[in-house]
This record gives sequence, structure tokens and C-alpha cells, in this order.
Amino acid sequence: TTWTASDDRFDRLPLRRAGRSGLLLPAVSFGLWQKFGDRHPYETQREILLAAFDLGITHFDIANRYGPPHRAAEKNFGRLLREDLGGHREEIVVSTKAGNPIGRSPYLVGGSRKSLLGSLDHSLRDLGLDYVDIFYSHSPDLNTPLEETVSALVDAVRQGKALYVGISNYSAERAHEAAELLRAAGVPLLVHQPRYSIFDRRIEREDILGQSARDGVGLVTYSPLAQGLLTDKYLTGLVPAGARAEQSDFLSPDDITADYRTRAAALDALARERGQSLAQLALQWVLRRPEVTSALVGASSVDQLRHNLAALDAAPLTDAELASVDEHGVH
Ligand code: NDP
Repeated sequence: TTWTASDDRFDRLPLRRAGRSGLLLPAVSFGLWQKFGDRHPYETQREILLAAFDLGITHFDIANRYGPPHRAAEKNFGRLLREDLGGHREEIVVSTKAGNPIGRSPYLVGGSRKSLLGSLDHSLRDLGLDYVDIFYSHSPDLNTPLEETVSALVDAVRQGKALYVGISNYSAERAHEAAELLRAAGVPLLVHQPRYSIFDRRIEREDILGQSARDGVGLVTYSPLAQGLLTDKYLTGLVPAGARAEQSDFLSPDDITADYRTRAAALDALARERGQSLAQLALQWVLRRPEVTSALVGASSVDQLRHNLAALDAAPLTDAELASVDEHGVH
């Protein structure tokens, strides 16, 4: 079936500025971490990604590792760009990452120039692109001098292979150092990508929120729904067929503990009092922070995505509701 972009796509989602930069990102961005590889039908992936674009999601987040298997998500997104989205390249912000291990090669892991720049070239080939919009160091590598990692990011931009650079999963201190080094090199750090949800408040505790704001760096935070734990799908204690907890290396039935169920049930009740779902509450909660430029979600169906995006229309959370979230979330 042929696809034509919706006319109202730019009116659907609010945009937020990424730190002190010229780049606007949608409040919700879409990630291809799981279920965009070769184990799930390409047609389903295409349907979700094109719906996301039609719903105003201009930013798609990928990494060399996403699939499974590794690299498959980049190849599938490359196909989508070729067959459907190609005419919209300038309307789309594509990010990719390098530094987390791919196979057993000593050169496809870590923050060396060899790892980052080699991986970026491979990603560009798989995506069929001349440049990505954002190139990330996927994780800190404490064995590689930060200067070397930063020089690889800078050169990616100088070589025209990336427009902006980002870091992911860094500590506040290392993120600040990276921001300073990048600023000095004339390639300011655009974004930091950490995890953030009602169940993971590390960026509050370690003041990555404050550090990012001071350094003028945007936050693109991931897993706002804690991979599905902050939805109603596991409330019964059972894992529905096909759910991530059934088939992922990163979430398992063991995560559905009694303590989890108590907390999730209380949060679900709070959401219902507000006339929304737990997923919508969880997404809205992340977006309440002005330091968060964009919340990176996943979805395994168009319905999930549409449902979650309705969170943006809900009334703001009151102080009493925020206190209730504090009480039931995990610190
Ligand atoms: P979420 O917390 O949004 O989890 C999304 C998953 O939750 C969906 O795939 C679906 O899983 C389930 N879900 C979503 N909506 C609903 C709903 N309404 N009802 C029931 N279940 C629902 O984010 P992700 O963990 O997917 O992460 C998002 C992105 O963040 C990734 O794709 C990636 O781009 C980025 N990321 C970056 C990392 C990094 O190290 N930099 C690490 C992790 C993620 P299902 O239906 O399959 O159960």
C-alpha cells in the first residue's frame, strides 16, 4: 500500500528546544530498540513508524545494536527511508549510537575513535544516509580518555557525517566534562540520553537535570514507561503473550514482583482518578520537567502509540498527585 504523509503532522505534537541549540525536537520521540529487527514483521514496523511520523513524531532514535539481531533496526529503517520516508529526509531527525558491544570484536565496543568512527560509517551504509542528525557515544568508557571519545564525535561532525552529537548513560560529572571539551572544540553537546521514569529517578538524585540545564544540554530521556512496567499490562501479575517481558533480554517475568505489583496498582489507581491510564500518567510525569526535551518511547502497535500520546492533552499534575507518585515510585 502506498503512503502519503498526513497534512496535519506538524500540528499534532509540541516541539521543545534541545538545550541551547537551534534544534527543536518533538516532546515525544520514537525509539527502535526492540521489535524493529528481524523477529517481527517488517509490515508491522512500517505501520508503526509511519503512524508515528503522521502523529507528529519527527525524531527516530536508533543504535548500531538495535534489532535483534544487531544492526537489523538500522537496515529496516534504511528500507523505510528508501521506500516511504525518503522524500521527507529533511523533516526527520535520525539519531544513531556507537560504543556498546557488537559481537566480540575489540573494535566494536567502547569509546575509541576506531570504535565510534568505524561504527558510524557502517551505520550510514545500513541506513542508506549521507549523514545522521545526531551521533551518540552510547555509554561512558572509563578505559578510553574522554578527549579521544570527544575527538571522534567532533570529527563525525567535521566530516559531515553528523549534524549534532550526544552522549548517553554518562554520570553528571563526565557529562559536564564532555560538554566542556565539546564546547571548546566548537561542536557543542546537543543532548544527553539517560533513563528516566517514575521507577528510575537517578537523574534527579545525581542532579543530571541541573547539570544539563547549566551546560545548555537537552535531555532526551528513555524508557518513560519502564519498558511497559508503567502500563496496565502486567498488573495482574501475568505476562501477556508477546509482551516484552516474555521475549526480551532486558525485561523478564522475574521483574513482575509482588512489590512491583503493589506500587503499580497504586499508581494505576492514581491515574484512574485523573481519568487517564497508567501509561499516560507515566509519560506525562516525565514531560513535566522543563529540562526534558523529549521522552523516547517504544511501542509494539499503533494503538499503544496513539493511546500514549493522548497523555499530552491531560491536565497538569497537581502537587498532591506528584506527592502520591513520590510515595509509590521506586527511588
Ligand atoms: P518505553 O518505556 O516507552 O517502553 C515501550 C514498551 O512498553 C513498548 O514497546 C511496549 O512493549 C510497551 N507499551 C507501550 N505502550 C503501552 C501501552 N499503552 N500498553 C501496554 N504496553 C505498552 O520505552 P523503551 O524501553 O522501549 O525505550 C524507548 C527508546 O529509548 C528505545 O527504543 C531506544 O531508542 C531508547 N533507549 C535508549 C537506551 C540507551 O542506552 N541510550 C536504552 C534503552 C532505550 P510490548 O508491547 O512489547 O510489551
